[in-house]
Order: sequence, then C-alpha cells, then structure tokens
Amino acid sequence: MDTNKKNYGIMTKALHCGWSGDPETGAFGLPIYATSAYKFRDTAHASDLFSLNESGHIYSRLSNPTVAAFEEGLNALEGGVGCLATASGHAAFVHLIAALCSSGDHLVVSDKLYGGTTTLLKDIFARFGVTTTFVDIDHPCQVDQAIREETRGVIVEIIGNPTMNVAPLETLARLCARKQVPLIVDNTFATPVLCRPFEFGAHVVVHSTTKYISGNGNLIGGAVIDGGTFDWAACPEKYPGLAKPDASYHGLVFTEKFGKAALYAKLHTSILRDLGGCPSAFDAYLLHLSLATLPLRMQRHSENAATVAAFLEQHPAVDEVNYPGLESHPQHDMAKIYLKEGCGGMMAFSLKGGLEAGRSLIEKLQLISHMANVGDSRTLIVHPASTTHSQLTQEERRAAGIGEGLIRLSVGIENVEDIISDLHQALEAANK
Ligand SMILES: *Cc1c(COP(=O)(O)O)cnc(C)c1O
Repeated sequence: MDTNKKNYGIMTKALHCGWSGDPETGAFGLPIYATSAYKFRDTAHASDLFSLNESGHIYSRLSNPTVAAFEEGLNALEGGVGCLATASGHAAFVHLIAALCSSGDHLVVSDKLYGGTTTLLKDIFARFGVTTTFVDIDHPCQVDQAIREETRGVIVEIIGNPTMNVAPLETLARLCARKQVPLIVDNTFATPVLCRPFEFGAHVVVHSTTKYISGNGNLIGGAVIDGGTFDWAACPEKYPGLAKPDASYHGLVFTEKFGKAALYAKLHTSILRDLGGCPSAFDAYLLHLSLATLPLRMQRHSENAATVAAFLEQHPAVDEVNYPGLESHPQHDMAKIYLKEGCGGMMAFSLKGGLEAGRSLIEKLQLISHMANVGDSRTLIVHPASTTHSQLTQEERRAAGIGEGLIRLSVGIENVEDIISDLHQALEAANK
C-alpha cells in the first residue's frame, strides 16, 4: 500500500486505497481490464516476470490490474501484507489449505462453521489425506489439546454461523503462536470495518466477498489476506512450500525472497497459478465499487440489527435470540472487545412454536426475502436445518448449535421500521 495512506481512517481507506486513477489518461474510475494476457516489453522483461525478478502481469489467471486494485483495497482495510482474491469463498479456503497442507497434515477447526466449509474439509480434503479435528472454540483448551505435530492451521469464524458465537481471538492467537500454528480467521460476518483480526494476533484472514463486501448479492467471490505475522521460516519442516526451495521456481525459497509476505507471494505466484480459482475482472470491478461504501453499510447493518434483535427478544412468540450485541448473548463481553464498532447484521432466533411456527413466519413475510444468502443490503431470512446446514447429520447440527426450529436473519440496511413491521405482521399471522 501507498505508505502515506497507512494512517487514514477506515472510510478514507475504503474510498482511496487500491486505485487513485490512471496516470496516463487521467481516468478516475477503475477500468475493467478485460484481457487474458499482457504484452511483454522484450524477452528480458518476459523472463524476469517468469522468474519473479520483476513484478508485473503475465496472464490473468495469475494476476489482473482490476483484480489487483480490489486486492489492494481489501488488504489496506484488513491491514495485511497482501491479499489474494479468488472466485469464491470456498476457493479462498481451497487455495489457502493447498498452500499450507500436504497429505498427512491436519487442521483444527471450529465446529460452528459455515456448513459448506465443514463439508469441504470433511469430504474433499480428507480424501487427499488432510484431516480435521472439529472442536468447540468457546473452550480454547479444546483447541490446545487438539493441536498436534502435524497440525498446520486453526480455522475459526469471527462470528460463528449460525449460532453467532464470537471467537476468543486473543486467547486463540496466543496459543497458536506458542504451538507454531497459524490462526486463520474467516472474517466474513464482521468485515474489516467491525473487526481486524490481525490487531488481535491472527495470522491469516479469509473472506467470502459474496456477502457484505459485495453487499449487492450480485456475484460470488472470496479472498485470503496474509497478516505477515507468522514466522514460517522458524518451522521449515512444517511449511516446506513456504520455507524450503520451490522446484517450480528453480529452488526459490518464498520466505527468503518475500520475507513477511511469503504466504501471499506463494498463494499468488504458485497456488493460484496451479489451481486457477481466480476471479473475473468484472467481479473485481464490482467488488472494488462496493468497498467504497462498506464502512457506511456495516455501521447501518449493525444499528438495524441491534434494533431488530431487541424487538425480537421482547416478542412473546420468540423463544431465544442469538445476537452478540444483546446482553443476553453468552459472548456479549467478547463482542465488546472484538466488535467494538458494532456486531453486524447477522442473528439467529427460534420461536416458541418450533419448526412449524418458523416455517409459517417465513411464508408470511412480505419485505424480507427467503434465500440461502447473507450479507446482502436487503434483509434475508432462512431456516438452516432444512437448507444451508442440511448436509450435516442431525448429530452434527446439534453440535453446531442448530436447533430444528432455528431461523437465521441477515438484517439489511432498509428503514428499520419497515423490517420490524414485516416481522411483526408475520409473527402475528403465524401465531393465529
Ligand atoms: C458464504 C460463506 C463462505 C463460502 O463462501 P462462498 O463465497 O459461498 O464460496 C465461507 N464462510 C462464510 C462465513 C460464509 O458465509
């Protein structure tokens, strides 16, 4: 990042980082570089690019200027040393795990995760010999006990899905550092506006940019941000891809050549090159546009959600509301530390009438949309047990805190009276 932008506030960074205009044409808007590849100046330039002796664009699977502008913007917001944008949140996890793990390696992962991430680890990575131990991160001693010699990372979500448990970041970061294992935080629900995990000792951040970062529900995307805070070179046997010679670059050692940004460099120049889950320039353009309003939107999501959570909590038909901003939430104190600027728009609640009442509520809503997505600027609702977490067994759902009647609400940025009035009429109708 432009070092003179380092000390700006989050709103200024969101508007100015990543792109400040085209020096040649003066164009202020970010162009969509719709190109597969890039002309070399001469043969020396070409071979310098290929050997990483010079940075620059070769082929859009590896990098693209529109994508780079978005990556730089998001990296600036998180405060990392480099960001890799990917075609989806899942692709972000696939590329990151491929950079850190080989067959025989192991991960320690929160048991309250986005259902798709759990399936990816259990079904795909397990077949390639990377195994996972799922633990309850609300009890960090479980994480401590599960880490073994082969462990290559601990993965948590800043706010768990859909129970809204807040990760004890500092405790986890401290024990991960002691065991020489990176703490990987999926920051999708908070975004860097509400929480910057690197400030609390995390080493890597992952996003599904499909959600709040887009905010428009118009694309699928993901990102990995390297905090530059993990010393891969201190344990080369564990992370040979980063700290030992890379045969595909004639023996280059990423930690030697790129220092703190070794993981970022590895992800971009080697993992993305080989796995190929790159985003399109058009999607990166849309995401870069969305970054500009992210701080305003997150502020509004948080305010609206706090009002909606308070409304639901006092409603006689509601059994329980999970929202970290509520005093009744088990990790409310944790939220005060890690989510100082607001708790975002995600909550879950259950009705006294159970599954049937939940179903009926969803049917009666008029403004709020019934969809398997979150983080849209429009308010969305879903029943996890029959949709997003339906691939899990009932047993696994119970471990993840997903009751059969639980409803997940992603509060948007509409006028909050309209959201509440829609919930109110649907609760009344469902109660009849
Ligand atoms: C949606 C989501 C993902 C997966 O991202 P995709 O963009 O759908 O591939 C991962 N983590 C969290 C917390 C999510 O909400």
